[in-house]
Amino acid sequence: MAGKQGQGGGVAARAADPAWDYAPAPESRDIVTIAAEYGLFTDGEFGPAADGRQFPTINPATEEPLARVALAGQPDVDRAVAAARAAYQRVWGPMPGAERAKYLYRIARILQERAREFAVLESLDNGKPIKESRDVDVPLAAAHFFYHAGWADKLEYAGLGSAPRPLGVAGQVIPWNFPLLMAAWKLAPALAAGNTCVLKPAETTPLTALLLAEVCQQAGLPPGVVNVLTGAGPAGAALVSHPGVDKIAFTGSTEVGKEISRAMAGTGKRLTLELGGKAANVVFDDAPVDQAVEGIVNGIFFNQGHVCCAGSRLLVQESVADTVVDRLKDRLGTLRLGDPLDKNTDIGAINSREQLDKISELTAAGEAEGAERWSPPCRLPEKGYWFAPTVFTGVSQSYRIAREEIFGPVLSVLTFRTPEEAVAKANNTPYGLSAGVWTEKGSRILWMAQRLRAGVVWANTYNRFDPASPFGGYRESGFGREGGRHGLAAYLDA
Ligand code: NDP
Repeated sequence: MAGKQGQGGGVAARAADPAWDYAPAPESRDIVTIAAEYGLFTDGEFGPAADGRQFPTINPATEEPLARVALAGQPDVDRAVAAARAAYQRVWGPMPGAERAKYLYRIARILQERAREFAVLESLDNGKPIKESRDVDVPLAAAHFFYHAGWADKLEYAGLGSAPRPLGVAGQVIPWNFPLLMAAWKLAPALAAGNTCVLKPAETTPLTALLLAEVCQQAGLPPGVVNVLTGAGPAGAALVSHPGVDKIAFTGSTEVGKEISRAMAGTGKRLTLELGGKAANVVFDDAPVDQAVEGIVNGIFFNQGHVCCAGSRLLVQESVADTVVDRLKDRLGTLRLGDPLDKNTDIGAINSREQLDKISELTAAGEAEGAERWSPPCRLPEKGYWFAPTVFTGVSQSYRIAREEIFGPVLSVLTFRTPEEAVAKANNTPYGLSAGVWTEKGSRILWMAQRLRAGVVWANTYNRFDPASPFGGYRESGFGREGGRHGLAAYLDA
């Protein structure tokens, strides 16, 4: 068993190899200056909430308070929406696309220049490993701005009508699992299409959205084009029901998505919902096992499983199930859990006490229902919110761990015998966001992709994202697409 590592007291999940161990490799947090207090970003300036209320944001790996952040209320939502409306009418709406594009390019370049700062701040506020924030979240966020900058002056060629028009003011509510990346997914297409935005980040992860607001200032974005309202659920609800908003884009839980749908019914506002998932990652007997195991690990343990499209249900063909599960367990024994700022860390902290409680509750239900629970040898740090990578075998489709979104590092393994059974089991879910297929046969990939009821189907890979590729779900995973030409359509009146 490896010893304690780094600032977060992280411990490797790695099975004992007394011969050697990784030295700590912590990324310095000096690159980030965290202020004691942050205001709301409205009309190009930071300022306190109208009633002066604040809330703390903490580092989930240490429970250390990072800053106090303004808590937006109704008057702040009113102010932000009014600023966005004025900016839409006076500046951003009438501005030629080629001019809007310059601002988006500028934001993208500043994101690249300040990439390390963003990565460290994201890992501090969210708990995700620095290698993920550094190599995935921040580069993809910059890529979204670059990609959409390219569209800003070409909207009439997007096949969405000859003179597509922006919708007006977009209200955007995002979750805590990819705080910067979700902000980029929301802002970049909306701005490229000529809309102005009011963004509400999640309560537990406000800091990178506020740094992005600072980048908007640095890029000289006209005041009011982007507004950032930190706060809790009621601020999101106030934004959703605000009469001055023309379009709502929401990413988060299916439960809140349904609430928003109900609140918006009959208002005439446009809505896109990107909600939960319970994706099947399907491994056939001809799949290259080592590659498939890497894909399974990436599918469910990336970002501690806090991923809406996570491959949380492994469907493995019965004839290779034992081999795949054995190799998977070996691989999980090499994952390192601990200090998110350590460059060797694979599994970081769970984002909040509430989320940890939810994961604990669902995994206890899995055991109670009869599944077999396994985790690699793993001592968790004493402070902070942690959950060991967990695999359940002997899972039936009726178990809660096979039906409900756990949103944590927990994999449920089910087996199948024929491709038809794989399809039936994969589709046996109220969700429909994503799926994975592992096989050597190209024809089988196409056969599966036609039958899987999921917005995204990955073949011999998993969790691959690109701003040019539309992403979104069916059924309880929501509707509408983000990214690509399809994502633009959600912000245009064609
Ligand atoms: P929520 O859906 O509650 O939060 C998403 C965003 O919506 C946050 O900014 C939240 O604010 C805001 N919000 C909350 N209530 C309302 C409302 N009534 N109207 C408008 N906006 C609202 O997700 P949670 O963070 O509470 O996570 C709960 C569960 O949801 C997780 O355990 C996970 O299973 C799932 N989830 C799924 C995600 C996905 O991408 N599929 C993403 C996040 C969570 P605030 O943060 O202040 O509550």
